Amino acid sequence: MKIVPGPEVSSTSKLCCSFFLLAAPSFVLGSIGSNLDPSSYSNVEEFKPSHLSFDMEVNFDTNQVDGTVTHTLTALTDEADTVYMDVWDAVQVYTAEYMVLSMMDMGNVTTMNSTLTNSTLINSTMPVDDECPTNWIMVSFEISTPNPNIGDALAVALPCTMSAGTQFYLKLKYSTIQDNTAISWMTPAQTAGKVYPYMYTLCQMNFCRDFAPMMDTPSQKITYDATVIYPVALAAKMSANITSEEAYNETHAISTFESTIKIPSYLIAIVVGDLVTVPLNDRLSIISEPAYINASVAEFEEMPEILDIVEDYLTPYIWGSYALVIMPPSFPWGGMEHPLITFASHTLIVGDKSRVSTAIHELTHSWFGNDVGCQNWGNFWINEGMNTFAERKTLSILRSVEDMKIAYYTSNITMAGDIEDYGVDHPYTSLNPDIGDDDPENYFSKIPYEKGSQFVYYIESLIGEELMEILLKEYLEFFMQQAITQQDFYPFYEAFVLKNFDSAKANDILNKTMWDVWVTEPGYPPVVQDFYTEELADAESLADDFMAIGVGLDPSDILDLLNGTVAGKVLLVEYEEYFDFNPDQKLLFVQTLRKNESGVVDATFLGFVDAALNITASTDPYVRTEWYQMGIEADYDAVMDPCYEWLGYQGRHAFVTSTFKVMVASGMCDTALVWFDDRKDFYNSYVVSGVTKALEPCSA
Ligand SMILES: [Zn+2]
Repeated sequence: MKIVPGPEVSSTSKLCCSFFLLAAPSFVLGSIGSNLDPSSYSNVEEFKPSHLSFDMEVNFDTNQVDGTVTHTLTALTDEADTVYMDVWDAVQVYTAEYMVLSMMDMGNVTTMNSTLTNSTLINSTMPVDDECPTNWIMVSFEISTPNPNIGDALAVALPCTMSAGTQFYLKLKYSTIQDNTAISWMTPAQTAGKVYPYMYTLCQMNFCRDFAPMMDTPSQKITYDATVIYPVALAAKMSANITSEEAYNETHAISTFESTIKIPSYLIAIVVGDLVTVPLNDRLSIISEPAYINASVAEFEEMPEILDIVEDYLTPYIWGSYALVIMPPSFPWGGMEHPLITFASHTLIVGDKSRVSTAIHELTHSWFGNDVGCQNWGNFWINEGMNTFAERKTLSILRSVEDMKIAYYTSNITMAGDIEDYGVDHPYTSLNPDIGDDDPENYFSKIPYEKGSQFVYYIESLIGEELMEILLKEYLEFFMQQAITQQDFYPFYEAFVLKNFDSAKANDILNKTMWDVWVTEPGYPPVVQDFYTEELADAESLADDFMAIGVGLDPSDILDLLNGTVAGKVLLVEYEEYFDFNPDQKLLFVQTLRKNESGVVDATFLGFVDAALNITASTDPYVRTEWYQMGIEADYDAVMDPCYEWLGYQGRHAFVTSTFKVMVASGMCDTALVWFDDRKDFYNSYVVSGVTKALEPCSA
């Protein structure tokens, strides 16, 4: 990467950030970046992307994707002659070709690129400047790194200036390299089946620029199509409809895909592996490796009912089909909401459908995020806060209002930890921080999810459940297919309230909403809402009962205590109610112990709790992670072996990275380094970098 001092910038240029001034490539006459998204170099206010056409081979011999991506772009001004895109270190760009779309091409589209569809051409106004070539010509490009936090800027020099409205193509030939933040390459040993390799992509937030050079910003929505060559023994799926699938040669197959509904770049996705598909009905299916397809289907058999509930509460599902892909164990997230093929962690397969809420969350993203989404990562709550509200509303209809409240309550505890980690005055505890030059991943926490959803829940308390449902329906219709900010949202909200209440009441509601306090100010939510339920009280009081008899606990008393025979102690005759708790109650029980307000939690005490409840053997992903971490903090050795196994059984960022952090904080650097060494080939690169960061104090 080279940084080239830039020339004087013309007064018409729109520079979003000071660092860009220092590093514009030498031939630039246009501007870099936009006012819409500080985390992208793409000059989307000068050139608007509308379609991407991929032609690629997924190569498991080299762990590379090789191919071309053809961008359909429209000039928005008369002057700009440099297109900026985003790219990252693991993408090597070989050539750039340019062609303007002429009237003649309209009648001869198939000779240009067989996969470009007429739908990409219809809206062009077709002014073509005489000097712009209407056949492919090579153009020069340059890559620089103005801001290492967001990758590299690819500047493509156009051979002519075009009038505003001109549509043209840029075709970029590229390869990815193995060490890639967007693509996970798995050896057969890393899969459940152990026979075939596996690959998948995960582009959120800024990683699609490591999959292919593109305008990688949520501010722009595009359609895409793809032609993919891959080993014939495997299946390929994308966040797009499959339009053909056939043999390419003896060893490889070729499939074509088409995404006709506009999406932001971070929702482009591909997965290639030994995959089987089991339909649940004519719209929904479950996909996974053969080893856990039956368990996956059983765990998520309620999805048709859930989709019906969501469509009834919101608006009709627009994407056609929906598949839940249960990912290999090292998948780093609970889920990722790619349209048509949501990815979900295999840790959700608990056996009792108790973690279906994550699958609901990914499904409701089909409305919040995938349809109406955020314009930049500083408005992430537009995706996650709105969506978490929709998820929990669905849960309340599917299960109960109590289940919904428990989810708010326990997640609020997790969010409080994130707020304390940042510091309550830190800008990233706000719902709308200025991310500026920072890596947007640094803003990723529970706060956009929980503070955001609590804000929506608060609005519901002001306008009522019935109007809230109408508000969400109208929001989805009004902002359909748009990328918005909170500044776009507020006037819509204000108009909705004024329309539905008399002016005195409307003004009262708008005042009480405290939009700016909720959205722009850092810190805890400004209104403490009551999510407490009887079930939560039961969980906390059982934890309190345990701690009450834990004072001065003699290990030899443990069995007697459970049998109710120790004189002078309040006996725990009711302790078996724990086994009837739902998973979130169990989690709250463990969280309550972990707060250790009584000061009794030590290794002996945890041994006592374990003798009664056997939490070390829990199969719930959240309960066991919380329990192991508390055990590490309390030097409770019994959790160490199960914890080590757990960290190799799954590779979820939320479980793995936080556990290593706890080990470091508990003075267990030596063990942590050994464990990480054993596991790091198994983890996704995102988790490897997270744990590496967590272990930094160990080498200080
Ligand atoms: Zn989400």
